[in-house]
Amino acid sequence: MTIQEHVPNQLGYADTPIVPETGFRVHDRTRPQPPVVTPGRHPGNAPSDAHVLFDGHSLAGWTSVRSGGPAEWHIVDGAMEVVPKTGDIQSTHVFGDCQLHIEFRSPELVKGHGQGRGNSGVFLMGVYEIQVLDCFDNPTYPDGTTGALYGQYPPLANVCHTPGEWSGYDIIWKAPRFDGEKVVSPAIASVMLNGVVIQNHQALLGITNHKILPAYKAHPSKGPLRLQDHSDLVRFRNIWVREF
Ligand code: MG
Repeated sequence: MTIQEHVPNQLGYADTPIVPETGFRVHDRTRPQPPVVTPGRHPGNAPSDAHVLFDGHSLAGWTSVRSGGPAEWHIVDGAMEVVPKTGDIQSTHVFGDCQLHIEFRSPELVKGHGQGRGNSGVFLMGVYEIQVLDCFDNPTYPDGTTGALYGQYPPLANVCHTPGEWSGYDIIWKAPRFDGEKVVSPAIASVMLNGVVIQNHQALLGITNHKILPAYKAHPSKGPLRLQDHSDLVRFRNIWVREF
């Protein structure tokens, strides 16, 4: 006899009320089981159902935004590093609603200030930037701080490590919905930086821009992850995505 046979109602009930919002009974025994996902061994490691966008060895899954050809950034110590003036790069893999993990490191050698220090960016769907910047003891305009939805919403806290230390974003992303050019529902971002919530289910006002009002422009339901060349030697590693 199995444990489930031994313990009554272990798998649920068939005589409880039906919840109108879900169509299932409370503790419904026929409700589908959640899929099994094997977590990574350590926090930040890719779980079993993740699509790995960068594993530290190859830029094969990345292209130059400018040329459409191979990404021209360098791989250094298991990370990809911006090669200034080669331009942004983007993943060949495209996705919409997702969970994204990405780690970044601003240069150990501190130079520049404000937006000129360790600047890069993580662009969801190629157009919505979550700012990457070295804001350790480096004030700048709040909606351009590390973890800002650039030009729209500052992060809820400044959680920067000291320069040269690795940081990690964990992002939960809901893509905007369009009906033709009309926005049916906006993009929504929740972001953790180094384990601290810095964007809490924040609706975006449109695509990222500089010094002008944000506005939406309709695009396909899936898009690439784009990383910014802002001429600083920022590195990225351990990039993976789980699509919803
Ligand atoms: Mg940037």
